[in-house]
Amino acid sequence: MLDISIVIPLYNEEESLPELVEWIDRVCTEHKYAYEVVMIDDGSRDNSWEVVKQLAAKYPAIKAIKFQRNYGKSPALYEGFKAASGKVVITMDADLQDSPDEIPELYRMITEDGYDLVSGWKKVRYDNAVTKNLPSKLYNAVNRRISGIKLHDMNCGLKAYRRKVIKSIEVYGEMHRFIPVLAKHAGFNRIGEKVVQHRPRKYGASKFGWERFINGFLDLLSVQFVSRFGKKPMHLFGALGSFIFLVGFILIAYLVIDKLNNNIPLTNKPVFYISLTIMILGTMCFFTGFVAELVVRNASDRNAYLTEEKIGL
Ligand code: UDP
Ligand code: MG
Repeated sequence: MLDISIVIPLYNEEESLPELVEWIDRVCTEHKYAYEVVMIDDGSRDNSWEVVKQLAAKYPAIKAIKFQRNYGKSPALYEGFKAASGKVVITMDADLQDSPDEIPELYRMITEDGYDLVSGWKKVRYDNAVTKNLPSKLYNAVNRRISGIKLHDMNCGLKAYRRKVIKSIEVYGEMHRFIPVLAKHAGFNRIGEKVVQHRPRKYGASKFGWERFINGFLDLLSVQFVSRFGKKPMHLFGALGSFIFLVGFILIAYLVIDKLNNNIPLTNKPVFYISLTIMILGTMCFFTGFVAELVVRNASDRNAYLTEEKIGL
């Protein structure tokens, strides 16, 4: 089995590729790793694929996939993970912002220190301070709170995984930002961090803009929700719906008793209508739970569990 698979998603990165591959090859040859580079061209519209083909002819370690159109970084990683066959899988951006010199230490942390996942931490970052660095800090703080994973830089493109981790998780949509969360939910707890060198983008432009913070936040909520209630949605909707209904019911009960005592018509009180609305909301929430249960019951992976070990089977 190969020591390392380096998975590289790329979208319009023609200028960076030759230097990147040459650098990776230099580092891996120096350390005598048996390695492969899995490049996923995410529907580039420049010459990236031509460059990849030329490089593949020169470096036998290169394997490559070309998407017919641009799907996004997560789908690219998903295909890359499927193809990767190394003991340790390292992901890296194609834009030369991540340094291949980090590979040996990342590899060592997985194989010797026993980490399941090591995430890079761009402690000193060479991106625009206002549009990237500051929001990213804030965002990571929220992320740490909600997910409970103590990483400074959750979304760093440079990460190393034990093979089993990437084969256990499914990166989809834009979930590449939350691979550590997905890994944790799959039962991998040894998640480490390594300060990595970050470099300014030499060629091309960033592919992610402002909207990534909104999408990222919504995705974080989804990840948390699916992992906790994905297999038993009624536990959330049922409890929440019952609670909301009860609030409305108690209010109404109070109003009715009040009416019996003081004889003011119920319909003269705004609270009456508010309570009715609350009760309806609660009921709807409750029934959403039933619908969600029906959906889960039909999901093809409803009985897919990750097993750690088996004996005699
Ligand atoms: N990328 C991709 N598909 C996309 C957008 C980006 O494969 O739809 C790749 C891109 O080529 C790069 C990596 O994902 O290798 C990170 O993108 P970028 O450097 O633009 O992100 P930033 O460093 O600005 O956060
Ligand atoms: Mg970049």
